[in-house]
Amino acid sequence: MLTLRLLPLSFGTVVALVLAVTVRRTMERAPSAGDEHSRRTPHVAVKRADVVIIGSGLAGLMAAVHASDVDPSVRVLVLEQNAQVGGNSAKATSGMNVVRSVNGSDSVLRFVEDAMAASHHAADPKLLEIMAQQSEQVWDELQTRFGVELTDVTQLGGHSVPRSFRIPPKADGTPRPLGWTIIAAVKRIVLALPNVQVVTLARVTVLFECNDETLRSGALACIGVRAQLGSPSAEFSAPDASSEELVLYAPAVILASGGFCASRALLAKYAPQVQHLPTTNGAWARGDGLVLAERFHVGVRDLNAVQVHPTGFLSLPDISKDSVLLAPEALRGTGGILLSPRSGRRFANELAPRDVLTNLELQHGMHVLEWLDTVIPKSSTSSAASLAARAHAFLTESGKLDAFRESHVISDLRGGETPENLQPYPMVVTYLLMTPECVDHFGLGAALFYEKVGALHSFESASDAAAAMGISEAVLQEELTRYASDASSATGDRFGKTVFPHAHSFADSQRVWVGLVTPSLHYSMGGLTVNGRAELLDMRSQDPVPGLFGAGEVTGGVHGQNRLGGNALLECAVFGSIAGRNAAVFSIRRGN
Ligand SMILES: Cc1cc2nc3c(=O)[nH]c(=O)nc-3n(C[C@H](O)[C@H](O)[C@H](O)COP(=O)(O)OP(=O)(O)OC[C@H]3O[C@@H](n4cnc5c(N)ncnc54)[C@H](O)[C@@H]3O)c2cc1C
Repeated sequence: MLTLRLLPLSFGTVVALVLAVTVRRTMERAPSAGDEHSRRTPHVAVKRADVVIIGSGLAGLMAAVHASDVDPSVRVLVLEQNAQVGGNSAKATSGMNVVRSVNGSDSVLRFVEDAMAASHHAADPKLLEIMAQQSEQVWDELQTRFGVELTDVTQLGGHSVPRSFRIPPKADGTPRPLGWTIIAAVKRIVLALPNVQVVTLARVTVLFECNDETLRSGALACIGVRAQLGSPSAEFSAPDASSEELVLYAPAVILASGGFCASRALLAKYAPQVQHLPTTNGAWARGDGLVLAERFHVGVRDLNAVQVHPTGFLSLPDISKDSVLLAPEALRGTGGILLSPRSGRRFANELAPRDVLTNLELQHGMHVLEWLDTVIPKSSTSSAASLAARAHAFLTESGKLDAFRESHVISDLRGGETPENLQPYPMVVTYLLMTPECVDHFGLGAALFYEKVGALHSFESASDAAAAMGISEAVLQEELTRYASDASSATGDRFGKTVFPHAHSFADSQRVWVGLVTPSLHYSMGGLTVNGRAELLDMRSQDPVPGLFGAGEVTGGVHGQNRLGGNALLECAVFGSIAGRNAAVFSIRRGN
């Protein structure tokens, strides 16, 4: 462990006098916009930066822009372990929340009340207030500075008014992906800033500390990072311990490294009840920030709270992957219905909140091992088309079946002595069914993409679809007819569903689209404790750790025990900007 004593000297003097900077290889600024793969220049040392940002999701990129804005002389370095920037932010689809002053029915207070209620009153209202107050400012900036057209507004579950903004589709109806478009736009600006460098394939493994006698006796300050550098060949190629290193000193470091939904070790430690579920997150969401901050005694909160999304796609033929594609709410919002593989029937209001739907899936879905073992014989007449048969054959042929069985042998009964919130979630499967009319409304282009990657499957007739799902054709026809007729009832259906998009199309549809879906880990609500200035807090004193800032999913406080859809992107934009500004100011003060 590198521990230094920092005397009351300027940071620059201390670095010059005390620190031997070891850079065996470093990188220069990306040569042109659109290419964040920085050019490598062996044997050129980067001795220090003013602000180092770990992670290039929305929180990290917004921090870079706003640190740079403070003063053109502030040198900002973004370190990203992936070959591409964007993290999970680039995957966002549903919306970003904004309290618009022109919307008379919304207000900061209303926003805070909605988020507090959703969080089970476990969120920090002060952080929420800051987020709501600054939401219009970041919305403005996204439009005017970055050119992101965030004008389509919708009302997501748990919000009392429509305030979730998306990008309208293209003139021909093709949807424009929200997170990806925002990241591409902010990246363009970041790469054009002369005082910002983005270094990809650089995984930070250590934060350097020193005893900071300039501020308080005994307090630890963060003064830099060590990163391992990878090779630019793979999409996600976290460098190993033997790869080359970059040692970098900086008065201010911002953790913007995202959540931990892809870390089986951290899930086992903090949220063991959901550790067996696949995740909609990329493999990079390993909670590095939580581990890096440990040596500074940064507090943590709400780490048990991991949001489970009811519909992750299990793509065929390999259903054993840890990482799954999200089957977005819009698929159900445009008419998709859910069927139980057990009964072949609907079991829920498909538009119910995420946690309600997940619980119903646990009751009515089928344990994935049971599905693999029992659905095949039922559809043996057309086993070539059976989804279970395809999955089973692939797992057998690839030698993955035994390991898959082993990792999912847990009870499918949630009951007994264990408290409800600690009982393990088994992996259960259900079917998502759509007609061509639903698919057209959702976006045929996107559906064809899902089909190409094995997430959606289209069938010429309901009878073929029934065989593929291993359910009775008669039951399926009966259920579809019933659904279409329920839709015309003034009182809704037996599950409390009152909105039935394109329901009539289920009565006589020939072509049918089917997806295999399962509850999946989506978002880590908890994280490092942080104040409204994006300073990370020492758990013992509750004072800020000098030189250490945090923003985005790595921090906790805004979501409590449950996140409202659309609040993650807003959190990144608001607190990323705050972290960037405050880190730059801190760095200037320390440097002088
Ligand atoms: C499928 C999906 C859909 C979503 N849809 C929405 C939505 O519609 N609205 C909404 O508000 N939220 C949504 N979310 C949540 C939201 O997108 C993210 O949670 C949020 O943007 C997190 O941003 P971040 O910047 O904190 O982290 P990320 O965007 O995940 O970025 C973190 C980055 O840090 C890098 N990193 C991690 N550790 C290191 C290290 N040691 N060294 C260097 N780099 C490191 C990672 O590689 C990653 O690129 C969605 C999430 C998913 C998965």
